[in-house]
Amino acid sequence: MSQSEISKGNHIAGEWRPGRAEAFASFDPASGAAVWRGPGASEADVAQAVAAARSAFHDWSDRPREERIAALRRYKGALEARREAFAKALSRETGKALWETTAELGSMIGKIEISIAAYDERTGIKASDMPFGRAVLRHRAHGVMAVLGPFNFPGHLPNGHIVPALLAGDTVVFKPSEETPLAGQLMVEALEAADLPAGVVNLVQGGRETGAALIDQPIDGLLFTGSAGAGAHFRRHFADRPDVILALELGGNNPLIVWDATDAEAAAGLIVQSAFITSGQRCSCARRLIVPEGHEGETIIEAVAALADRLVIGPWDGAEEPFMGPLISDRAANAARSAADRLGGRVIRAADKVSGAPDAFITPGLIEVSHLQTPDEEIFAPILTIRRAATFDGALALANDTRFGLSAGLISDDAALWDRFLNRIRAGVVNWNRPTTGAAGSAPFGGLGDSGNHRPSAYYAADYCAYPVASFEAEHVASTLGEIKGLRP
Ligand code: NAD
Repeated sequence: MSQSEISKGNHIAGEWRPGRAEAFASFDPASGAAVWRGPGASEADVAQAVAAARSAFHDWSDRPREERIAALRRYKGALEARREAFAKALSRETGKALWETTAELGSMIGKIEISIAAYDERTGIKASDMPFGRAVLRHRAHGVMAVLGPFNFPGHLPNGHIVPALLAGDTVVFKPSEETPLAGQLMVEALEAADLPAGVVNLVQGGRETGAALIDQPIDGLLFTGSAGAGAHFRRHFADRPDVILALELGGNNPLIVWDATDAEAAAGLIVQSAFITSGQRCSCARRLIVPEGHEGETIIEAVAALADRLVIGPWDGAEEPFMGPLISDRAANAARSAADRLGGRVIRAADKVSGAPDAFITPGLIEVSHLQTPDEEIFAPILTIRRAATFDGALALANDTRFGLSAGLISDDAALWDRFLNRIRAGVVNWNRPTTGAAGSAPFGGLGDSGNHRPSAYYAADYCAYPVASFEAEHVASTLGEIKGLRP
């Protein structure tokens, strides 16, 4: 379907105006084949989309909550009907294995009921009786929310902002990642099938310049999942705009400590899942493995290297089901390999090109960097650095030595170490003997430091989609003269 075909009705994708916005395309990173081609939205298209969202806002937010719930359940039905085709499209556009994109569709569908529960629990209505009447806590929608999506979960993550925002009564202008415009288009088509009123959801396609045009518009909120660099830019951009709510879900440089784990192979399984799943393209992937000095640490490293060698790397529709596919593009993979080279250190397993395959495919990298100064940056790829520590407290200090604070993990059979880890580690998502990538829609998801701005998403997305309004209410005008102190008779 072409871009102009979905610009009908309420979902404005924009016509390409020569000289004002570029046409662009997305590609299957496993084959280089074009997956989507279309125009980017011009500044005028973006302004039109925001105006449409603005004019739809009052009607949408005034509607009873049950009506918005019904609309979102129709969207859920539309996603269910498209589940298989949508998952395959996500695999083609991102290179991710089909088991992963099928799970992503499951998360998108599950998000609807979770968001309804979260809305009621976190931002519903609470009333209590007062001598004069009642005290009531309600939540009101902000207005027009701009949603900027990342490429790595191009369905699930924008969906995790859009569903709670619509439920709260906000309207949305959504710009998918320029790497995954098809994913964005398919999502908006499913919303379109749910018969939302005109202007409630608007799609603008394009790259950073389209995102830049969107944040210059009169929006009420920016719901962003993406890189820490972009997040820092948005913090600065909106520094003098306290009226715009910012929810920033950013990257990490996540530590994973292994200490007193008796089964090295089991530990290696958790490490591999933490570091290399989705080809390392999850914000919660472990980037820094910390092990004890001496034999115990060496055994763990050998077990990880042996397991990494057994991982199937290949295209999503290949003969053998892959553990991991390519990175999002040749460019991303080449940049990641260069970043790994710049670390120095002892290369245990190189992040190499896969022979005979496009550059986007790389092998999992393991690099020991003990005693080296390395940049505190996220390398968004299957590259795990390793450090050795003499004591558990030394390992904790290394783990916390980061400006980020998204996820962290401990692999250990010692419950006392877990208690100590829990008390000391600075991260928003912390797992014990589970991969660092473990997350549930029924819990908040977000991080500290440069990983966010203290507005976690997932179950807590309800919090940033509406603001609380406290009121004291009496149904009749009754005299309060008796309550006024210092009043002459
Ligand atoms: P990105 O920051 O490059 O892009 C994300 C979106 O923002 C895209 O739509 C892009 O066009 C737009 N954008 C980027 N810079 C912009 C600017 N200056 N002005 C306007 N728009 C701009 O991120 P990405 O590479 O797509 O995604 C990967 C990153 O996302 C990683 O850092 C990862 O850790 C992070 N991430 C975080 C979470 C989380 O929940 N914390 C989840 C997934 C991914």
